[in-house]
Amino acid sequence: MEKFFLGADIGGTTVKLAVINSSGEIKKKWEIPTNTDNQGASIPEDISQAINETLDELHIDKDQLVGIGAGAPGFVDTDTGYIHEAVNIGWKNFDFGNILKSLTGLPVWVDNDANLAALGENWLGAGEGAENLIAVTLGTGVGGGIISNGQIINGANGTAAEIGHMTVVKEGGAPCNCGKTGCLETETSATGIVRKAKLALADFPSSSLKSSIDQQSLTSKEVFEAASNGDELAESVLEDVIDVLGLSIANLAIALNPEKIVVGGGVSQAGEQLLRPLRDSYQSYALARTAEATTFDLARLGNDAGVIGGAYLVKKNQ
Ligand SMILES: [Zn+2]
Repeated sequence: MEKFFLGADIGGTTVKLAVINSSGEIKKKWEIPTNTDNQGASIPEDISQAINETLDELHIDKDQLVGIGAGAPGFVDTDTGYIHEAVNIGWKNFDFGNILKSLTGLPVWVDNDANLAALGENWLGAGEGAENLIAVTLGTGVGGGIISNGQIINGANGTAAEIGHMTVVKEGGAPCNCGKTGCLETETSATGIVRKAKLALADFPSSSLKSSIDQQSLTSKEVFEAASNGDELAESVLEDVIDVLGLSIANLAIALNPEKIVVGGGVSQAGEQLLRPLRDSYQSYALARTAEATTFDLARLGNDAGVIGGAYLVKKNQ
């Protein structure tokens, strides 16, 4: 009897779901809206119902489903699946794992969504089964997932690998969503890049980005495009952004000695334009022997990384 794993990636607008077999083949991938009314109380029920419908449709018996691996953006107790807080979804002190388990009658494992994305990339994407890996997601925010000696690192209370909140500007840094200032996220996320470009306009008033900045429409993608066309504002901003990112990853690497650094998220669409200087920055700050062991790669699974990681969480815990 063929066995399947269910991956669920719960985000602020949609819950992504996938049924995956043990060789990593996706049987079905779909999404349902995230109902954040009533502090997201109906989400477990919505997921349970979506799973039942899909099992019927695929003619898969519930016995064939080994379990559910779910990711949520927030602080998760991975032993119990208890969510301390997931702001985007409205959960606070929510016993998600146990509720989903009793609704579905299936074993449930829960982890932070960025950790699951790292696991997914490591199973079927750019990680290629690395035992020591740092996954960095550069999107609206900056997320991270760390695999050390083959295990996802969760830490004492679920905040390990929250690399977006490393302090990189000691004084006068921009405010971060976490309540601190000067976090890596404020400097190197897509939002951070746009923020820095706006500030830099005072030094480069004739930049080609001026009209986008004036119209409040500037995106991080435009900053990369302008830099590749030789715009000095864009070049200066990206030099700064990539330097601090390389520094931060090099400091993490001292603790972890990773063989692989996987960079994903919207900003990573810049590809080699980002990776080339990032490798240089990393090498300039890392211990030479540490740097020798490391390769940088772009994430390959895009939005599927979370559900694939969820399925893998079940596979490895079954
Ligand atoms: Zn922060």
